[in-house]
Amino acid sequence: MRYSFAMSRRNVLLLTMLSSVVALGALGATAAGQNRPQRAPIPDDAPPRPENETACNYQDPIPWLVRENFLPRWTQPPEEQRRRRELQQKVVRFRTERYGYFEDFGDPDWNEHPPRHYSTRIEWMGLPVRINERVVPALRCVEEQIRAECGGEYEPVRLSGLRTRNTYHNGQVSNHVYGIAIDVDPHLNTCCMCVAQWGDHPLCQNPVESIYERMAMPPCWVHVFERFGFYWLGRDRLQDTMHFEFLGDPDHILKTDGPAPHMAEAEGAEGDAEGEDAADEGEEEAAAEPAESDAEEASAGADVDEAASMEAVAAGETATEAASAPPATGGGCGCSAAGL
Ligand SMILES: [Zn+2]
Repeated sequence: MRYSFAMSRRNVLLLTMLSSVVALGALGATAAGQNRPQRAPIPDDAPPRPENETACNYQDPIPWLVRENFLPRWTQPPEEQRRRRELQQKVVRFRTERYGYFEDFGDPDWNEHPPRHYSTRIEWMGLPVRINERVVPALRCVEEQIRAECGGEYEPVRLSGLRTRNTYHNGQVSNHVYGIAIDVDPHLNTCCMCVAQWGDHPLCQNPVESIYERMAMPPCWVHVFERFGFYWLGRDRLQDTMHFEFLGDPDHILKTDGPAPHMAEAEGAEGDAEGEDAADEGEEEAAAEPAESDAEEASAGADVDEAASMEAVAAGETATEAASAPPATGGGCGCSAAGL
């Protein structure tokens, strides 16, 4: 009797201590003004593709080029992590051979020129942007269909294409350095899971039924991009809604090039494509996640602490780490420009 009483007192004490820890954690979160945003549901239904009157093929991204399909995760068995590290090398080689060699990634023997050598400045949706010339035809077709289908209400004011600096951390390389990624209005279209500053944005804090509610761009833009080999990073765990990257086959963009081989494979033997094993939802929690700071560009004046918190937020995936990020200023990431 005495013994069980003692045990229960001990349990009560433990519970009390635990509650204090939880309460302190909650206080910390409040004091920092930060709450880790919930991931928004991502609808995968897209309206039927219209008859294709453009010069380009409709094509899906090549599955193994999609970040989620080649990044190793801590939670995966060692063999799977090893397979993915090898696949990463294959991805780097694919990009280097076609788009240019970016220092420290891959082998300069694969391509003697940097991506900038293959880049060109174009006007897209009325705005200047520097992009790899190989993907220009695809962007032209995207523009053609956006203008035909999406109405004219949304007019972007800012684009970001080729970068000469890698904005990924943790050893990854951004598709921006190859000139095959484009950000549309990086100050308006959120990246809620990227950096602490975005996480504090009202669009990221409010519960939503769809990720489309967290961006200024009409969903129609996403649907059109996705028909022409662009992968929308809104689908990624970073939920980077501003970002599209061309992961299709650059040798088969135009109809005159013939259909891309991976599309024929997809129709003939669905599910057999390499890298098909997309990340399991259950692996979400302990991901080894490199943070891409797309918002970084929009965040003039991001300091070292912010950069550190970017990695912490994306890597840790816990409320505690989110709470340790510096309070957002509203203007720090350009968030206030959203006017929401
Ligand atoms: Zn981007």
